Amino acid sequence: MATVHKTRMLIIGSGPAGLSAAIYGARAGMEPIVVQGLQPGGQLTITTDVENYPGFRDVIQGPWLMQEMQAQAEHVGTRMLWDTITEVSLDGPPFRAHGDSGDVYDGDCLVIATGAQARWLGVPGEAELGGKGVSACATCDGFFYRGKKVVVIGGGNTAVEEALYITNHASEVVLIHRRDSLRSEKILQDRLFANPKISVLWNKQVDHFIGGEKGLTGVALIDTLTGAPSEVATDGAFVAIGHAPATELFKGKLELDAGGYIVVAPGTPKTAIPGVFACGDVMDHTYRQAVTAAGTGCMAALDAERFLAEREFAAARLAAE
Ligand code: FAD
Ligand code: NAP
Repeated sequence: MATVHKTRMLIIGSGPAGLSAAIYGARAGMEPIVVQGLQPGGQLTITTDVENYPGFRDVIQGPWLMQEMQAQAEHVGTRMLWDTITEVSLDGPPFRAHGDSGDVYDGDCLVIATGAQARWLGVPGEAELGGKGVSACATCDGFFYRGKKVVVIGGGNTAVEEALYITNHASEVVLIHRRDSLRSEKILQDRLFANPKISVLWNKQVDHFIGGEKGLTGVALIDTLTGAPSEVATDGAFVAIGHAPATELFKGKLELDAGGYIVVAPGTPKTAIPGVFACGDVMDHTYRQAVTAAGTGCMAALDAERFLAEREFAAARLAAE
């Protein structure tokens, strides 16, 4: 029999946005429930060094930061539940979410903080060789490439950080980028170009992954300027071309922009449905940083508190009449 969990504040997602909303919500007495999803702690749990989250002079580790954030949220009264939401009904309040476990979650307000997931190239061989040489997480799988050659595909912060990280394990790393300049921060580019284990193949797009039963053996490339084909032999390939917002649940229920991000009123976390808020990477296609996710999580909790206060005040006045 399904358990129904009732809360004044239901939060879907346990990355920096969801946990910051929880910290503010719990301290405001909203007794939040956070449904954690398949990646408790969110994207920072698959990275290593974090050196731009304010408050820490020394480099900290992403998984450690998220453990601390969760502990802080629990310490002030958040209930963390291990489930994944598979369906939502936004005809509330209460807003209802159905978990993969069969449990049901009713929130007087809803904070959506489902973040983003790795984007794939969608070329032949990628799905077939997934887990057999093709990966989207160097910090998860880099260890398997000790002393081997790997390629990293992409030109943003993630790709450059992945390339730098894998040099701890691999003997040779080739960064493959479709243009002739990187979009990652300069400090990361400086480290990349200074690393003797890393070389860059410019203006190359992956056409398909090469391999078979025994796994990946190479990548077939197309020159984006000349169209010329080429091949690179490799033991591993890390796809690091960005992340797509996790908004499948909300299609047809909330307005999404062309990139699939939840549309909010400018400068706020408010969706078009009163009482439903979105924060973090799921609504932010511009900044997508841990600190901005935490900031919008805080904003969502403050607006949620105002929403509940107004609603509860109106209900109390009606009852008194
Ligand atoms: P996420 O961190 O994506 O968390 C989303 C949460 O939603 C997860 O807990 C997930 O389990 C949950 N969820 C999703 N769907 C469901 C569902 N259906 N039901 C229940 N739960 C669900 N930013 C920095 O500021 N500094 C860095 O150094 C940095 N390094 C990075 C390194 C890498 C490799 C990557 C990928 C990103 C990095 N970022 C960094 C970006 C940063 O991680 C994100 O901006 C931030 O994590 C976004 O937070 P979020 O809470 O919005 O979403
Ligand atoms: P991103 O900034 O969107 O970069 C994606 C990269 O992949 C771009 O270089 C893009 O090429 C390339 N790309 C996209 N689609 C492609 C395709 N189909 N084929 C080949 N290449 C493709 O994504 P990200 O690097 O994952 O970063 C996401 C966000 O997280 C950013 O805001 C970033 O700042 C943040 N982040 C921060 C840190 C940090 O602060 N240290 C670390 C990681 C991530 P083009 O350049 O040609 O578009």
